[in-house]
Amino acid sequence: MEENKKQLRQNNIFMLLTLLAITLICRYLHGQNPAVSVFRNWVPLSGRVIVIDPGHGGIDGGANYKNVLEKNINLEVSLKLKRILEKEGANVIMTRSKDIALDHLNKKDEYRHKRDLISRVDIINKTASDIFISIHVNAEKSSSKTAGPMVLYFLNSIESRKLANSIQKRLESAYAQTDRSVSTRKPVGNVSLYLLRKTKVPGVIVELGFITNPKDREMLIKQDFQNRISTAIVSAIKEYFS
Ligand SMILES: [Zn+2]
Repeated sequence: MEENKKQLRQNNIFMLLTLLAITLICRYLHGQNPAVSVFRNWVPLSGRVIVIDPGHGGIDGGANYKNVLEKNINLEVSLKLKRILEKEGANVIMTRSKDIALDHLNKKDEYRHKRDLISRVDIINKTASDIFISIHVNAEKSSSKTAGPMVLYFLNSIESRKLANSIQKRLESAYAQTDRSVSTRKPVGNVSLYLLRKTKVPGVIVELGFITNPKDREMLIKQDFQNRISTAIVSAIKEYFS
């Protein structure tokens, strides 16, 4: 009896040591705890903090075509994006969840528009986020033919470019899944936009399409297309973190 107990205890110690050795080897090889990687496969974005910034809001409608306002499309898509990201385990922080401008959150500049941007940057920088996604709709006054998504990133950030590439490709695929496809373009590296310049974590400005293009506009106000492009952006974010 005593022998059996001793044997059992030895077996337990052996199993514990084996588990410890496997954990250490995995950490050494992949820099990650195997339990974490198994969990990540199951809930891919668990533990990731993502800021979603629906552009404009309140007094600032953004780009418009007649009564179609950019600020509303931005918010509708952002809320869908939030829901899908949370299902994937992400911790989502919104710069705004309703139709408001953010200029009232600080007094750091005399111009309303600048104060609005400063508030967005402050939220992104103060929340220890992994990435941010700023959602917008483009406009091209000189030609209604210009169409399709366009992702902008801070030129000096390799991580932001990686994220931008992924989102650009996935969004173009989402367009191609409808009865029309748009010509492909590379994400745009930028050094002057305040939001890209002042934020301390990787992130992108996603122009979902052109409000001035009749087909883009027609699709961007539809719930099913908004869901489709939100899903595409989430797939790109998962690809970025994988
Ligand atoms: Zn905008």
